[in-house]
Amino acid sequence: MKKSKVAVVACPDYEPAHVKESLQKGLEAIGGLESLIGKEENILLKPNLVRSAKRERAVVTDPEVMDALITILQENGYENISCGDSCGLGTPEGIAKEAGLKEVLEKHNVPLKDFLTSERVETADGKFLMIAKDALDCDALISVSKMKTHALERITGAVKNQYGCISGVYKKLGHTQYPNAESFAHMLIELNQKVAPRLYICDGIVAMEGNGPTSGDPVSMGVLLMSTDPIALDTVFCHLVNLDPSYVPTNLYGETLGLGTWHDDRIEIVTADGTISEEELKRKYGNPNFNVDRRKARKKGALDLLEILGVFQSRPYIIEEKCKKCGVCVESCPVEGKAVRFDNGRRNPPVYDYKKCIRCFCCQEMCPHQAIQVKKHRLPWGK
Ligand code: SF4
Ligand code: SF4
Repeated sequence: MKKSKVAVVACPDYEPAHVKESLQKGLEAIGGLESLIGKEENILLKPNLVRSAKRERAVVTDPEVMDALITILQENGYENISCGDSCGLGTPEGIAKEAGLKEVLEKHNVPLKDFLTSERVETADGKFLMIAKDALDCDALISVSKMKTHALERITGAVKNQYGCISGVYKKLGHTQYPNAESFAHMLIELNQKVAPRLYICDGIVAMEGNGPTSGDPVSMGVLLMSTDPIALDTVFCHLVNLDPSYVPTNLYGETLGLGTWHDDRIEIVTADGTISEEELKRKYGNPNFNVDRRKARKKGALDLLEILGVFQSRPYIIEEKCKKCGVCVESCPVEGKAVRFDNGRRNPPVYDYKKCIRCFCCQEMCPHQAIQVKKHRLPWGK
């Protein structure tokens, strides 16, 4: 059986020469750019531009990775390149400017698309997704994700990055249509199959651990990952951070629905010096103390009652001392009537209505002041 190759290349920092060399080595290890993308094709780069943040906070794909990738593409004769994302908060232009990506794109004459024009695409479960036309119409999408933790799906890497292909306001609709980790993961797999990236790159030079995907802590992982199989790439990400890949819903559905594989016997981990085993990967590149949710995934069934009672559920909490009462969390809540509101007036932090809350964690993801934390709630009668 043909194995899915995942390139793992060491890159100690964002020094331009280091990033370019590592990217080149990784691309060669998975067969070379020319085996993946034709010179005449329209290429769309899809970085993670979830919201505005300085690059050192490790919220967005680092501009140096984008610079190196565009340089390599252009040096190899690829001319039709654009870049785009639909952000959770703010505009791609503003976020790209804050992160230092705007000047990279201008230097290379690569236009930045805002993904505001979308097309309705039906899904297998009878619902629909509003997908950016640019993502559907390009010839070759290159997904350039950031290695981060995620409150709902545990990690955000190759697969989750494509949620940025959902156009603007329709992202909120996606969260209400798919209100738990399993249904959201299922949708993400279908979305990946619709936009079908040709190549997945993950920026793990500096990753985010803890309260990700936007309020966590930067941590040096010193790697770039590359693959044509997003499930295999995310599985290698899991191994690097000592997380059981079967705990990640997108991995499970990704295999069932045919997007890729999380089974180690079907994955080949390649480095610049050849193939390595999972053990070697962990020893050479892993960080076993990476702060990520490693609690065992519970089986559905009898324990669902506990979930109904609110036991074991994760919930967002506002850290009052950090809250600036900006209202971004209220604005981002997709639930009708809002599950987080200024019930105590605008001079006090918003409060949660957990009966309404669908635990999509958009509020935690969008809070610009790292004032929202997701914690496991154990007792149905109190915090
Ligand atoms: S987004 Fe964050 S800082 Fe702003 S009101 Fe909500 S909790 Fe407070
Ligand atoms: S309160 Fe937060 S977690 Fe709950 S539904 Fe609203 S945005 Fe989602």
